Amino acid sequence: MADPPVVVSRAELRAALDERPAPGLVPTMGALHDGHLALISRSAAENPATVVSVFVNPTQFTHQGDFAGYPRSLERDVKAAAAAGASLVFAPTVEEVYPAGFATSVEVGPLSERWEGASRPGHFRGVATVVAVLFGLVRPARAYFGEKDFQQLQVIRRMHADLALSGEVVGCPTVREADGLALSSRNARLSAESRTAAAAIPRALAAMRALVAGGERDVSRIDTAGREALSGPDVEIDYLAVVDPDTLEPTPIVTPGARAIVAAVVGGVRLIDNLDLTAGDAPWAS
Ligand code: AMP
Repeated sequence: MADPPVVVSRAELRAALDERPAPGLVPTMGALHDGHLALISRSAAENPATVVSVFVNPTQFTHQGDFAGYPRSLERDVKAAAAAGASLVFAPTVEEVYPAGFATSVEVGPLSERWEGASRPGHFRGVATVVAVLFGLVRPARAYFGEKDFQQLQVIRRMHADLALSGEVVGCPTVREADGLALSSRNARLSAESRTAAAAIPRALAAMRALVAGGERDVSRIDTAGREALSGPDVEIDYLAVVDPDTLEPTPIVTPGARAIVAAVVGGVRLIDNLDLTAGDAPWAS
């Protein structure tokens, strides 16, 4: 398949979109893996055109070293995006997204404060602001985000509703390895040993869901089982909780849609995951 055109400036993007109004939009930071490609394929199936943005957004990194060290592989990403059905790749520079004088930021209230927001101050302000810019530039009919970053998805849904942005926000299921580990560009940083240890994360989520499937509704017992399944010499829990899916506040009793959310540092690499405790199954656990 021929590679899609790559545009780098706001003006080029607007011009290219004259012929493709109201496309699907898939925002990414590049280093594309099958999780990203699932979003792109879904958008390509549901929209006449799909814009994939590849932008490592400096304002959402708490540590500038992480921003500098983030993997960049534009050429490979363009080919992978094309194969998944992208029509256009928007790969702007930092100056193009944040031109001189840029002074606006989007702050999404309480949803941003807990969990990832507490561990990474300013992270969601950076995410919400860049996503708002992308909505303004692309004016998508639909924009696709992964449930893998569940809090991010809910922050974006809130912003999208509050600011009456164009189109629709579409949440897409988490793509996982055979043992359940959620695909992430960070997985490449795991040593072979830590990669094995990291499988405790989806195992813990599946154990929590199995309890709920068996009729357990008391979150304190579910929480304990999750922590036990997760404990290991190489794993340090940052947070593990069962939350209401809309408010992300902890819930004492499992109600429909209740989510287990987890962040853990495995062999020095911080990983996040989540699971709806009341729906579907966990094939990696059987
Ligand atoms: P990122 O490049 O990490 O900013 O991610 C770009 C988009 O891909 C976000 O909407 C993520 O939630 C989504 N994503 C990342 N990993 C996965 C995965 N394993 N499954 C589904 N979506 C994912």
